[in-house]
Amino acid sequence: MAGSKDFDLYRPSEEHDELRKVVRSLAEAKIAPFAAEVDEEGRFPQEALDALVAADLHAVHVPEEFGGAGADALATVIVIEEVARVCASSSLIPAVNKLGSLPVVLSGSEALKKQYLSPLAKGDAMFSYALSEPDAGSDAAGMKTKAVRDGDHWVLNGVKRWITNAGVSEYYTVMAVTDPEKRSKGISAFVVEKSDEGVSFGAPEKKLGIKGSPTREIYLDNVRIPADRMIGEEGTGFATAMKTLDHTRITIAAQALGIAQGALDYAKGYVQERKQFGKPIADFQGIQFMLADMAMKLEAARQLTYSAAAKSERVDGDLTFFGAAAKCFASDVAMEVTTDAVQLLGGYGYTRDYPVERMMRDAKITQIYEGTNQVQRIVMARNLPK
Ligand SMILES: Cc1cc2nc3c(=O)[nH]c(=O)nc-3n(C[C@H](O)[C@H](O)[C@H](O)COP(=O)(O)OP(=O)(O)OC[C@H]3O[C@@H](n4cnc5c(N)ncnc54)[C@H](O)[C@@H]3O)c2cc1C
Repeated sequence: MAGSKDFDLYRPSEEHDELRKVVRSLAEAKIAPFAAEVDEEGRFPQEALDALVAADLHAVHVPEEFGGAGADALATVIVIEEVARVCASSSLIPAVNKLGSLPVVLSGSEALKKQYLSPLAKGDAMFSYALSEPDAGSDAAGMKTKAVRDGDHWVLNGVKRWITNAGVSEYYTVMAVTDPEKRSKGISAFVVEKSDEGVSFGAPEKKLGIKGSPTREIYLDNVRIPADRMIGEEGTGFATAMKTLDHTRITIAAQALGIAQGALDYAKGYVQERKQFGKPIADFQGIQFMLADMAMKLEAARQLTYSAAAKSERVDGDLTFFGAAAKCFASDVAMEVTTDAVQLLGGYGYTRDYPVERMMRDAKITQIYEGTNQVQRIVMARNLPK
């Protein structure tokens, strides 16, 4: 049929639907009860990590040959989406495990994969991704962290900023300049371990949302690592970092979907209960139209995200556009839907007695990290569909 190849929705299989049920019930039983506390206290959601590891849902993307579940991109999206529906901070456990380790999956040697993916799959170690620096955010290629070759070793010096799960993760994919003359082509990627001498961490950032997910600086002070910890060839680190983001921006879209779904579900229940003018506020058309718009936008974001996940799985040529589009669209929708959920709860929605306030704060970060939504628009404009 003409044009059918452009119509590329990913239909979740029965297995995907089954996985969603399993993750939803685990998230509601073992993660949701701690979500408000984790936010209020700004503490790492250890209960969520324990529950996810026990159910083998903490890093489902790791290929089976390295002891992982070998889940496809859509299954990974579903896991993140369902965890984010109850606790966005906790959803950064599976999401950042994928972000941190995907450079190794995509470009690492077999030995490196075996060494670092197996402990991740077992739940013995988490993985983080260290690209950003204090003066290199959107312009990540402007980084200053350096790696200098010394015999069979590389010596790293510099500061990485905003690193999710820093201090909790054992392993870090660190991008560093190996040839300052070549800008992005002079950047290489390395695996750095928390226990490597010269690695230390800054104080946790005091953030608006995702307060349970530690965000810290990493200081690299003459960190000497074996040369075989380089991921791929020298000078390919920035390309690997960008290729990784093509796939993992879809996981941020998933997180945005989950946060928005959690807010919509809560608001839907609330408007049935809350009475004003002698009847449930759900009876007012003004409220019904808001819910209809929220559900419509969320479903559009979900279809785009699942379609992008299919492209990630197949590594389609237009993945870069779709990864950026899904992240940008879903995060904008999450911000709108969570803001509307607060509106639907009125004054109560503005307090921490109800979860939609947290969800609105959590949604904001999805418009910022893994490239701001302005940056996503730059990426899309450079990779418009043919
Ligand atoms: C909670 C949190 C967790 C994070 N986790 C990680 C992590 O695990 N690993 C990691 O490496 N990084 C991480 N980051 C970093 C994140 O990816 C950066 O904050 C983001 O890329 C933006 O960089 P910046 O903060 O330096 O903003 P800047 O680049 O300084 O941007 C400031 C503003 O200018 C806009 N802007 C910049 N350039 C342009 C342009 N060319 N055109 C139009 N607008 C532009 C931006 O969109 C933004 O609105 C995290 C950040 C936060 C806040």
